[in-house]
Parts: sequence; C-alpha cells; structure tokens
Amino acid sequence: MPDQSIPYRGRFAPSPTGPLHFGSLVAAIGSCLEARVRGGRWLLRMDDLDRPRCSRATADEILRALEAYGFQWDGEVVWQSGRDAAYREALGRLKAEGRVFPCACTRRELADSALTPDGATIYPGTCREGLPPGREGRAWRMRVDGAHVAFDDLIQGRIESDLGREAGDFVLLRADGLFAYQLAVVVDDAYAGVTDIVRGADLLASTARQIFVRRCLGLPEPRHAHLPAAVNAAGEKLSKQTRADPLDCSNPVPALVAALRFLGQAIPVALERETLPAVWQWALANWSLAAVPQRRTLTYNPPV
Ligand SMILES: [Zn+2]
Repeated sequence: MPDQSIPYRGRFAPSPTGPLHFGSLVAAIGSCLEARVRGGRWLLRMDDLDRPRCSRATADEILRALEAYGFQWDGEVVWQSGRDAAYREALGRLKAEGRVFPCACTRRELADSALTPDGATIYPGTCREGLPPGREGRAWRMRVDGAHVAFDDLIQGRIESDLGREAGDFVLLRADGLFAYQLAVVVDDAYAGVTDIVRGADLLASTARQIFVRRCLGLPEPRHAHLPAAVNAAGEKLSKQTRADPLDCSNPVPALVAALRFLGQAIPVALERETLPAVWQWALANWSLAAVPQRRTLTYNPPV
C-alpha cells in the first residue's frame, strides 16, 4: 500500500496509443510542477487498458521522451494492463451492492442512442431492470439513476453534472472483456494514494462519472485541476488522430518553454536559449497554478 504519510501525491497517466505531443507535455509539466511545489510526489502510470490500441514500444518511447525532457517520477511505473485483478475486485463490490447491472445490448442495438459530449452512447435503459428473456449479459453498466455530481475544480471552478442526462448508465466492463477507463482510473488513483489529479480539460467531461464510481466504492476523493487542452488552429484537440507532431526529444527546451507559456507562466524569453536544467530551475521556482488560464481549450500555434 502507498505511504499515506506524504501529503500530496500527483500523477501523470499517458495512454501509449501514440507518442507524446505538445498537449501531453502540457499535462505532464503542469501535474509535475504542481506536485513539486507542493512538496509532493509525482507518480507515473501507463494507461494501457485498451490493449488493442496500445503498444509496449510506444510506452517505451513515451518513457524515453519524458526522460529527454528532464522529468523525474517517483517510484515504479504502474501499468494498467497488469491491474485486472484490482478492477475485478472493485466491480465485484459494486455487483454485491447492486450498483451495476449486466447488459446484453449490442453496439447495433444502441446505434440510435444519444451521445455524451465525449462521444459515448447514452444508454436507453433496456437491461436496467433485468436482462430481456433469452439474452446473456455481455457488459456491466453502472446504475446511475438520477445522480447529480458537483465538484470544485481548482482551475475551472464549480462543475455540476446531471449524470443521467449527460452520461446515462455507463459501461464498467466492456463486452470484449476489457475494463473501462472510468473504473480503472478510479481504482488506480486510490491504490496509489493520489490526492490531486492535474490533467487536461479534454478529460473534464468524464470526471463526474469517475467521481460517481469513486463515491459508490467509498474511496477517498482527490482534488481536481483541469488544465486548458491544447487545440490546433482548426479547434481540434492535439492527438494522434489530428496528426499532432511528436515531441522533438533532441531539442526539448523550446517545447518546454512553450508549454509553460501556454499554461500562463511568465517565463522570460531569454530562457529559450538556456539549458534544460535552467528551464526546470526557473519553473520549479516560479510555477503558479493560479496563473493557468481558466479555459477548457487554448489554441497552440506551433513554431514554423
Ligand atoms: Zn442492455
């Protein structure tokens, strides 16, 4: 079990579905600096839950990129792909308390359903009161009922969510046997004793679902701080899908300085010509969460 005597525990949890890009650097530097200035630990987890989309080679590439940018994490890297037993135990507890129900619906049967802001299906409730006759459960869903979730984000302010309307009964164990991110992230953060989740606001839409799962499991609640997500000139989130450039590991200073500036930090222009340790030294001495813009997205114009 993690040592609970250390107050602040932050983390960075990339998914190894593609190399790190500017948007991931922003989440890494923001979570790391906030942990360091608070005198806390900064943990690293590989969110490689979606095995078909993740690769060990990409994960290794991410670790090398973080090292090239001067990041130093505490302890061993935790791999979600090795944590199924913990997720199964948590799901078992939710089953025992009637918080989840089996669902027989196929993707095709749900094709006409409404969508959440992040593109997931809002469940119409078909199997909520029992499986239709002759059908077998394929997935397990969280019973949301009319739950409302509210929390105070350290950057974005008060966030309120009507889960029934915005998410519906969401999946915890998928029909293909993979555990859902909403369950895994909650179980893993609790296991690691994470007190503060600092990450990109692209994940803000799923935070209420995670808080709901956490409360149903009776796990401690971390604070949240959602950093503005970097979008390109077309307003698309930087990602593998939008062909965001991988970080240049041979020349980390310009991107690191740009990430700090993106997060509202008043970093002197002269530091662009300095060494990597000098940039880190400045960042550790001057980082301010209060200076981060209260925006869900910000446009990032890469240097040409
Ligand atoms: Zn169903």
